[in-house]
Amino acid sequence: MSNQFFNNKIDQNDNKKNRTNNAIKFFLVYAAIAIFMIYMYQSFLSSQKTTLSYSKFKQLVLQDKVKSCTLSDKYIKGVFTEDGSRKKFITIAVNDPDLVKQLQKHNVDFSGTVSNTWLTNLILGWILPFGFLFFIWWLMSKKMKGASGGLFGFGKGRYKIYTHERPDVKFSDVAGEDEAKQEIEDVVDFLKDPVKFQRLGGRMPKGVLLVGAPGTGKTLLAKATAGEANVPFLSISGSEFIEMFVGVGASRVRDMFSEAKKLAPCIVFIDEIDAIGKSRAMGVVTSNDEREQTLNQLLAEMDGFDSTIGVIIMAATNRPEVLDPALMRPGRFDKQVVVDKPDVKGREAILKVHAKDIVLGDDVDFEKIAHLTPGFVGADLANVVNEAALLAVKDNSDAVHMNHFEEAIERQIAGLQKKNRVIRGDEKKRVSYHESGHAIVAYMLPGADPVHKISIIPRGLAALGYTQQLPTEEKYLITKSEMLDKLTVLFGGRAAEEIIFKDVSTGAQNDLSRATDIARAIVTQFGMSEKLGLPVFEKPGASKYLTSEGIVTEKENISEKTQEIIDSEISKIMNECYNKAKNILNNNRDKLEKLSSVLLDKELVNEDEFKAIMEGDNENK
Ligand code: ADP
Ligand code: ZN
Repeated sequence: MSNQFFNNKIDQNDNKKNRTNNAIKFFLVYAAIAIFMIYMYQSFLSSQKTTLSYSKFKQLVLQDKVKSCTLSDKYIKGVFTEDGSRKKFITIAVNDPDLVKQLQKHNVDFSGTVSNTWLTNLILGWILPFGFLFFIWWLMSKKMKGASGGLFGFGKGRYKIYTHERPDVKFSDVAGEDEAKQEIEDVVDFLKDPVKFQRLGGRMPKGVLLVGAPGTGKTLLAKATAGEANVPFLSISGSEFIEMFVGVGASRVRDMFSEAKKLAPCIVFIDEIDAIGKSRAMGVVTSNDEREQTLNQLLAEMDGFDSTIGVIIMAATNRPEVLDPALMRPGRFDKQVVVDKPDVKGREAILKVHAKDIVLGDDVDFEKIAHLTPGFVGADLANVVNEAALLAVKDNSDAVHMNHFEEAIERQIAGLQKKNRVIRGDEKKRVSYHESGHAIVAYMLPGADPVHKISIIPRGLAALGYTQQLPTEEKYLITKSEMLDKLTVLFGGRAAEEIIFKDVSTGAQNDLSRATDIARAIVTQFGMSEKLGLPVFEKPGASKYLTSEGIVTEKENISEKTQEIIDSEISKIMNECYNKAKNILNNNRDKLEKLSSVLLDKELVNEDEFKAIMEGDNENK
């Protein structure tokens, strides 16, 4: 088999880690050398002399074997004979008033000495260690220059921690994400010819913030922008700005901008900008001066340069809510582009991009694979394709077939479901009732999506379990009764907890906040509330978290009275749905018990098993 199967898109995350790893490696090597040399130095000092215990020394004196010695308050040095040969010795001095008498008695030629002369003191205590340190420093800074650009050359522009390239990635390599690409289109036009763009009256962009989950292709999109415009691409990760010493971050920013101005038109890409751009209000406990200085420098540089030269700063984050609002002011990152997790169509397109260079069997159906991979991001899908190709190689297969893809998907899912997260027995029981509650309510309601899978295997940090519902078809319109049913399903978890444990837990927090969002949308966006009727009081989504004033939702002007009605309508809808969920579960208490005990046992219940339980056909269990 040859490597025609492989799609050589190396995960860039590896590169990011490598640079840090190298620095650590160098440090370890030099630490090892240092320890070795100290050891050598010590053994050198003691090598020529035999070190004697004081008792042994006394014994030798009494046996007339010691010929001569010098006494100091710290040690005794001298010469003794053993088996006819003369040997130097050293021994640690002990407070022994009789010693002199005994030395005289045994004819030892002795003299006193001051414990150290200033010269040896100077050499051993100062010059040698400092010389050694200097040597290490010299070696290290020489090496670091090669690796990541000189550890000690602060502010001199000698280090290049950012990478500089001219990518040949194009928009066509970024599958799905059509909206994001469209939004960036004018950035490309601008970079191609800044002067012309300005003459035609285009609004000059300066900073673009790409917002999206890890692996959704933000870096790829930024590169493709440079590729489309055929301009250089400077990139750096936010965490690299501040990993070393105080003051370095700010000078790195300065350095990078001066480089960018030389290369203009070009793109500067800052990955993980949240590492430096965290809201200053949020780091309450430790005020991180280094980060703040770096951020201030970045803001100053962005404000300082003239946008007509054609430098675009693109930055990526998956936590826009923690960013300092100052970053979002006009003239800074005033354009925000959401890079979403791909939907079914997007996933299919991404799979096709990555499968371009591999030999596929006739049975491979990307639409089906896309349906099997809900929640996967571009990076996950790229992994699936690579893994499938590897499996095909292992199989000695002539091409990559559907079974390879299926196995690759299962492996990827297994990786995402970190099974090793331990939860306590009673927590597990609660989670299984909670998830069963969601599933049973979903089963009983016509407007809810059918249950596909119920799991109490934790995924990631927040979710302890999940109930997966698969829509029968992709929908663009949702009716009011469907929305209410969704709401009721969300309450199923908490309702089950209340029925069984008479006490609720914090586990439903995510459900409740999603439910609140839906209820609010029903009232304020879709004109579906009876009391308030048709007017729209809030605009949907877009500017929810990304304005310069921080986290706000765009609102029409609403009187206090209307706001009260809105609130009461929202809680009325939510209460009705919650009670409905409770009723359903009370009427199906036996199913709830059954399902949660199976779930507790198996951790995962699939669609067929679930249906069997709900239809009561489970006598064999
Ligand atoms: P992010 O920067 O959002 O964390 P990356 O751009 O580093 O994600 O994506 C990692 C890899 O995943 C990319 O190099 C690419 O191979 C793949 N990928 C992600 N999104 C897409 C996409 N929309 N189309 C094609 N490949 C993608
Ligand atoms: Zn829940």
